[in-house]
Amino acid sequence: MSALILDGKAVAAAVKAEVAEAVGKLGYSPGLATVLVGDDPASRTYVRGKRSDAAEVGIESFHNELGADVSQEDLEQLIDRLNADESVDGILVQLPLPGDLDSERIVERITPGKDVDGLHPHNLGLLVLDRPGLRPCTPSGIMRILAHYDIPISGVRAVIIGRSFLVGRPLALMLASRGVDATVSVGHSRTKDLAAVAREADILVAAVGSAELVTADFVKPGATVIDVGINRTEKGMVGDVDFDSVREVAGAITPVPGGVGPMTRAMLLVNTLTAARARRA
Ligand code: NAD
Repeated sequence: MSALILDGKAVAAAVKAEVAEAVGKLGYSPGLATVLVGDDPASRTYVRGKRSDAAEVGIESFHNELGADVSQEDLEQLIDRLNADESVDGILVQLPLPGDLDSERIVERITPGKDVDGLHPHNLGLLVLDRPGLRPCTPSGIMRILAHYDIPISGVRAVIIGRSFLVGRPLALMLASRGVDATVSVGHSRTKDLAAVAREADILVAAVGSAELVTADFVKPGATVIDVGINRTEKGMVGDVDFDSVREVAGAITPVPGGVGPMTRAMLLVNTLTAARARRA
């Protein structure tokens, strides 16, 4: 049996259509400030994509570009200006930052209400407390794709491989939160017999950054497999999941590309809309 393909592109398009409709009813254009430091081509492409997504749904973006030699102080002053700017509802600083720039301090400088990446300690704290707040985009996108396909979560066993603050940790909290109610395990580089732990999962999420680490022997028959990984290899972009073997065992699976990536982008727009509504209420 071949798994159902969870089409992140299609779900992201539906999310974007919802955001566009909601923005149309606001009577103003929410503003998203993007900050790009240095000339990393991948970062540039990501920011360009985010700005064109914003334009598609009626969010105005304000681009700020700084050389890789910018000082910490000057970058912090830019954040201060964007914090104070009434036309800016969301601030996105494209990470990683080059050189010695301290990205933690930069993220912490952003007013939590404008932190549309959901990575400020205040917003991560609200997540721990199970209180409303801006959530990190990739885990929110995963929750959204699971909901779209009516994948049962309550009471099931979820295993997340990877414990980064960007994906694994916040996703573990979201899946285990009240009303969502999965039983969650988090695997990582020190986990003993990772395949056996993974095989317990009804929902298995791979967020590692290791090409095709998850093979068919990691997967319980019928499980839902979410592949967050983006790995550039000789055969092109692949995920953390060996798609061809795993799709024969899993019940449902996200492809790479076209799975979690588009959902992450769409959730940035949702967060910008949420931030605008909260700030201008
Ligand atoms: P990270 O490097 O911050 O964290 C990786 C985690 O994997 C760590 O917790 C580490 O303990 C764990 N790990 C490393 N090697 C392991 C192994 N052999 N076995 C088990 N666990 C292991 O990475 P991240 O920022 O969470 O990103 C993970 C991957 O997801 C990367 O490929 C990244 O490009 C991708 N990513 C994709 C999106 C998207 O929108 N699709 C968003 C964010 C990250």
